[in-house]
Amino acid sequence: MSGSLPLNYKTVILAMQGVWYKMENAPTSFLMGLSHVREVQIHQSLPSTNTYAKELLNSANDHGTVIWALEQTHGRGRLGRAWLSDSTSLTFSLIWRFPNYDKTALIPLAVGLGIVQALQIFSDELRVKWPNDVWAKGGKVAGILCESCRNEQGIWVIVGIGINVNQSAINASLGAVSLEELTGCPLPRLAVLIEALQGADHGLNRLLNGELDLSTDFERYGNFLHRRIILHSQGSLRPAIARRVLPDGRLVVEDEAGGLAVVMPDEVSLRFPE
Ligand code: ATP
Repeated sequence: MSGSLPLNYKTVILAMQGVWYKMENAPTSFLMGLSHVREVQIHQSLPSTNTYAKELLNSANDHGTVIWALEQTHGRGRLGRAWLSDSTSLTFSLIWRFPNYDKTALIPLAVGLGIVQALQIFSDELRVKWPNDVWAKGGKVAGILCESCRNEQGIWVIVGIGINVNQSAINASLGAVSLEELTGCPLPRLAVLIEALQGADHGLNRLLNGELDLSTDFERYGNFLHRRIILHSQGSLRPAIARRVLPDGRLVVEDEAGGLAVVMPDEVSLRFPE
């Protein structure tokens, strides 16, 4: 694992109109204290920040790169679903490398919880829908897509994050909610990026230090426990009640006959009944 950077000097790259502007050791006070951010790349438009990040791994194998697209045209969700955004949304990916680490499956949950905690500064209504969607007022505010790959340098995890900052036009059709709707005022995307990076960084540090208690954090910041849910899995729907999250991130659910079962984050999608 690359160590923490001692100072708040990072590389900032602006990729605008096909021209790259690189600022080495930029005094980025807004990124102060982030141990897992080394470089921020700001792109005017990308099809998908996760796809771009994955291609970058071949040439610059760097832990701590942030790819921020001011506009993302073909964002992806889980299982080939689309993530929609416009020029008022925040879409970025983090590249992290883990030379030896056997808990990468928990990274999406740790990051989701970290982001929800950090974004409380904008609204204390924000909650996590297991495993890692950010919700408020019955709709999704942010989504996280983690993808991993392995090469000779270790395991790479690309954490793609989409946050509805000020968007409104596309919200109704998606049942989406924006931070602007929650706060009542438009927010600068950079301010939300800084908070989200702080949250992701904090979540990852807690996980790496063994300090993250998923059960307690989901009790506190989850919106799904002790509620009726529908579990979607490969075309089948199963009603259940969400009971608790185990320390390793799996969800304990109770079926209609009172039987308990344990489900993994990557095998089901959790929905709420209409
Ligand atoms: P899961 O709970 O399994 O993650 P999901 O339906 O929330 O299921 P994701 O992969 O997280 O799936 O996100 C993609 C889905 O989110 C899309 O199918 C669409 O319904 C919805 N969606 C797409 N863009 C947005 C957005 N900007 N805001 C809110 N919801 C969105």
